Amino acid sequence: QAQVNKEDISVPMLSVQPKGKQKGCAGCNRKIKDRYLLKALDKYWHEDCLKCACCDCRLGEVGSTLYTKANLILCRRDYLRLFGTTGNCAACSKLIPAFEMVMRARDNVYHLDCFLTQHTPQTPA
Ligand SMILES: [Zn+2]
Ligand SMILES: [Zn+2]
Ligand SMILES: [Zn+2]
Repeated sequence: QAQVNKEDISVPMLSVQPKGKQKGCAGCNRKIKDRYLLKALDKYWHEDCLKCACCDCRLGEVGSTLYTKANLILCRRDYLRLFGTTGNCAACSKLIPAFEMVMRARDNVYHLDCFLTQHTPQTPA
């Protein structure tokens, strides 16, 4: 069943110096012995291991934010390419966020709710 995902999809990455017990990398499961490690999604990563699922770029190098959707970790560029803003709703003319379910009809795009409201025959009063 499709669900409208209203969660925030951009996640901050922090470059931190490890302290205390050595952390395991969420990417490769090995201990992180580097001088710096990345903390994101409540996990720790080698700088080499936190990569975009699409273009394989090292996310720590391209910005301080990663984007996550459907269990994919993406750089901003790929996120926008894959899930970028859908456009303006033809019914309410508000911008439709990329992660929202939409309906397309001819050249128009609608919020799912707007589409249903507009295209559900009104029962005459
Ligand atoms: Zn790693
Ligand atoms: Zn990428
Ligand atoms: Zn709408």
